[in-house]
This record gives sequence, structure tokens and C-alpha cells, in this order.
Amino acid sequence: MSEVSVTKNDEGPAPTGDPLVVLDNVNKHFGALHVLQDIDLTIHRGEVVVVIGPSGSGKSTLCRTINRLETVDSGGITIDGKPLPQEGRELARLRADVGMVFQSFNLFAHKTVLENVMLGQLKVRRKDRASAAKRARELLDRVGVGTQADKYPAQLSGGQQQRVAIARALAMDPKVMLFDEPTSALDPEMINEVLDVMQQLARDGMTMVVVTHEMGFARSAANRVVFMADGRIVEEAEPNQFFTNPRSDRAKDFLSKIL
Ligand code: ADP
Ligand code: MG
Repeated sequence: MSEVSVTKNDEGPAPTGDPLVVLDNVNKHFGALHVLQDIDLTIHRGEVVVVIGPSGSGKSTLCRTINRLETVDSGGITIDGKPLPQEGRELARLRADVGMVFQSFNLFAHKTVLENVMLGQLKVRRKDRASAAKRARELLDRVGVGTQADKYPAQLSGGQQQRVAIARALAMDPKVMLFDEPTSALDPEMINEVLDVMQQLARDGMTMVVVTHEMGFARSAANRVVFMADGRIVEEAEPNQFFTNPRSDRAKDFLSKIL
């Protein structure tokens, strides 16, 4: 263990539920680059974990391994007690339990907003059109874009498109939602409308992993902050403690640059 690795488990709010996502000594390389190094991370049901760290530290790769967009070289990942399968129908089913929202919204441009939110329900969850449409409209209302249902993505603002992307992920009834810098591509005036939706989700008890530079969100919504650098989890703490009194030099240095 390096001298800056000061992870402690005796701080922060009580865990919110049983372990939902467990990474056990996960390692991954991209060629010579050891992008994830001995990652141990448990996300409890109902918990909101914010992941921060310098660019290139492995945050996106961490998210992508959790829904198996990336394979790992060693170590184990379980979701709700089940190991992530390598491929096939089992993988599709388990992956549907993990909602993902990216920096770029990745909506289908040639489908309406409503159809975007229906698609996974039809193809993966095998719902009929009427119930998929009903659920899609409910979710679009919930994220505040109900009136945009029949438009095409390009007719919406970035903030609206990202909220549609959140509704689309929620439509799969995921057990956990992963957000990878969901507001980084947005104009400043649209950031809050997306963060507000995420904040509400957190209050409603959704289990969330959020990679973000929005420290206000981290302070108000996170149960725990995970700080990554060079492929390692360097520090984990309750947000107040992390922002006011980071223990590692890496975290102090990082915070001094962004705050
Ligand atoms: P972060 O999200 O913290 O900025 P990433 O997980 O995107 O970091 O990337 C971590 C490191 O892995 C970076 O050095 C990046 O260049 C490298 N990397 C990411 N994806 C790939 C890939 N598919 N192939 C090779 N290197 C990659
Ligand atoms: Mg990234």
C-alpha cells in the first residue's frame, strides 16, 4: 500500500443498505498502462457515491467495468450478489440492472424522445408498446421534459437531452445508476436542471455512482466521496470531511486546483 493510501472505513454516514455493487481487487490494463489497480469498492443499496480525481485517473474506466463495457484482467465484480457474466443473455440482463448516463447523451437522433425512452423497455424488458409508452411518459414528466415527448433530440437543449437520457436509463428499472460526468458537456445555465434531477433521484433512494466535478452536488448529495489518482482509490471519506480536511497529499493538491 502506498503512503497516500489512507482509506478508512470508520468515518462517514452509516451504510444505507446491503452491498449492491462490489468490486473486489479489480485490476485492468490497457497495454502497458495499469489503469485500475487493486480496486476494492462496495456500494450499498441507496448510497450515493461521488467519484472524483484528475483526468486520466481511471474514473470512466471504473464506471465502464461496472456494466461490463470493459472487461477486467483480475478481480471480481458482483451486482446484487451475482457475478458479472462474461457474455450472452445473462450479461444483457445484468447490464440492464445498471443504468448509465454519459457526458454525451447518445440519444437516437432519428427517434422521438418518447421512442428513445421506450426502446429498451421493448427490446430488453420485452414490454408491450402501451405500457412502455405509459412508463416513458411518466419518467419524462418526472425529469421535467414531458411536453417534449414527440420532438426529436436535436430540437431539445443539451440539458433537456441529458434529462431524456436519464429517463431512458431509469426506464429499465435499474438497481444502480452510473453517471459519468453528466454535466460536463452542458452550457453552464443547464447544469443545474440536470443536477436537480439527480438530486431528486438520490433523495428518492436510488443507488448512484456519479463521476463529476460538481463539488456542490458532491457536498449535498453524496454519502461518500471516492478520490482516484493514477488508477487507485487514494482516499474515501464522507464529503464534508473530504472537502474540509482531505488526508492525502494527492487529494489536497487536486482540491487546491479545483476549489
Ligand atoms: P478518467 O475518466 O479518470 O479521465 P479514463 O478511465 O477515461 O480516466 O482513462 C484512464 C486512462 O486510461 C487514461 O490514461 C486513458 O488515456 C486510458 N484509456 C482509457 N480508455 C482506453 C482505451 N480504450 N484504450 C487505451 N487506453 C485507454
Ligand atoms: Mg472520464
